[in-house]
This record gives sequence, C-alpha cells and structure tokens, in this order.
Amino acid sequence: MTLRGKNAVVTGGAGGIGLQVARQLLVAGAARVAIIDIQDNLEEFVKLRAAHPTQSVMIIKMDVANKKGVEATYEEIKKTFGSIDIVVNVAGIFNDKDVQRTLLVNLGGIMNSSLSALQYMSKENGGNGGIVVNMSSVVGLDPMFIIPVYGATKAGIINFTRCLGNDKFYQRSGIRFATVCPGATMTDMFTNFTEKIIFPETSDETYKILDRLSKQSATDVARCILSVLEKEKNGAVYVIEGKRIIPIDMKPYWTGKEQAL
Ligand code: NAD
Ligand code: MG
Repeated sequence: MTLRGKNAVVTGGAGGIGLQVARQLLVAGAARVAIIDIQDNLEEFVKLRAAHPTQSVMIIKMDVANKKGVEATYEEIKKTFGSIDIVVNVAGIFNDKDVQRTLLVNLGGIMNSSLSALQYMSKENGGNGGIVVNMSSVVGLDPMFIIPVYGATKAGIINFTRCLGNDKFYQRSGIRFATVCPGATMTDMFTNFTEKIIFPETSDETYKILDRLSKQSATDVARCILSVLEKEKNGAVYVIEGKRIIPIDMKPYWTGKEQAL
C-alpha cells in the first residue's frame, strides 16, 4: 500500500515514537493525519503544520482508556477526513506500580482504538478498509523479570492483534492488522524508570540492565513502522531492532484447535 494521499490516525502522537510516526507519515505524503493523545505538544504541532501546509494535521486531546471518548473521536475524525485508511496505535505508559492504569491504557487503549478503527474503516460500513498497526514491545515476546505488569500488557496486545488479524475478519472488513515489537528506544518512557518498577529490590539490577541495553532512536523505529504499513501480510508480528523489521514466526502449540475448526 502506498502512503501518499492516505488519511491516518496516530495515538500517542504528541511525543516519542508516535510523534515521529506522525511526522514521517506527513513526509511520505499522507493527506491527513489525526493525532490522539492525552497530552499537548503545541510547539511540535505548530512545527508539523508549518512543514506541511497543504496537508491537514488534526489534534484531539483524548485518553485512549476512555472507550466512549475514543469512539466519539473516531466519529469526529471520520466526519472531518471522509475516510480513515491507516491507524497506528502507539499510546502507552510504563508504571508497573499502577496495575489498573497500565492495563486500561496499554491494553484497553489498544482495544478501544482497534475496535473503533474496525467500525469506522470496515468495508461493511462503507469504509475503504486499510491497515491497523499496534504497538507491543520485545518484552511482550520475551519476558523481562523487572517489568511484569508492562510486559503482560504488551503480550496481550500481540494476542489481541493476531486475533483481529485473522483473514476471516479481513475478508469482511478489508482491514489488515499487524503488531510491532520494538527493542529499547530512547524516549521519555525511561524517565524516573526505577521509581515505577514494582519490586524495589530489583532497582540496582534494573539500572544495570537499562545501562547495558542498546537503545535505538524513535526516528528509526518510526521509519520501520512506516515500512510495516506497506506490507501486505495480515496478522504479522515484527520485532524492530537495529533499523530493521524482523518478521516473527508465531508457531501454533494447541493441536486441538485445528481439529475443532
Ligand atoms: P513516550 O512516553 O515518549 O510516548 C508515549 C505517548 O503516548 C505520549 O505522547 C503520551 O502522552 C501518550 N499517552 C500516554 N498515555 C496516553 C493515554 N492514556 N491516551 C492517549 N495518549 C497517551 O514513550 P514512547 O517510548 O514513545 O512509547 C510509545 C509506545 O512505544 C508505548 O506504547 C511503549 O510501550 C512502546 N514501546 C516503547 C519502547 C521504548 O523503549 N521506549 C520500546 C518498545 C515499545
Ligand atoms: Mg510516542
């Protein structure tokens, strides 16, 4: 799929990886980009608009954990844009001390936005179909003992997105779903990190691990996400590391399922 002329939605687009995705979508020629974020970043939004005067940049301040609010936001975007072709769900937090908020934002937010995307983009409802990319993490694939709450939400995102990425849905909706799992990336997510871990006794260990991790830039991760948008495979899971996208083979374990279907 070409990105030129397309209408896109990016959650978590006020900062970090999401802002770079929004920026690069505009550079790639997207006609309209809507940013859904709980925060403002007026300085960056002014710059985005100035750099792309003939494209539209719509900013909606909304908490992705708010299901009704997210639905209303999609309704507003659809009305303003006419159609939605691309959704990149990036919004997420790290705070293992707040289990409920982590579940509601990371997992709930992805579910709310993906399900609204399905409703507003589906060919069954007069949409054009398109693609939804959901943000997981390498720690959603490989458990990291210092961050079990965050990791569990990221693992859940992979399963949820693979379910929606079933071709039975695609045939009806025309929407493909993919999951991306970046490795460590330099963003605000690491600010005051050890204050937000659940086991304080692992904090020295955490410092050491964070220090040793090779960290990539948000710009490089965003570039990889744009190339995932152009891929045709439905339900795919990609690791993003070292400026590369690596397709992951999610092999089946449950033999009973094949017999049941
Ligand atoms: P970030 O904190 O810089 O950006 C997160 C963005 O999401 C911010 O703009 C924030 O305001 C927004 N946001 C947070 N809660 C929200 C809510 N409830 N509703 C709407 N918007 C909300 O961090 P980042 O590193 O750019 O993280 C982006 C995504 O990438 C997250 O889902 C994160 O889990 C994931 N990720 C990050 C890394 C990393 O190492 N930084 C690695 C893999 C995956
Ligand atoms: Mg971001």
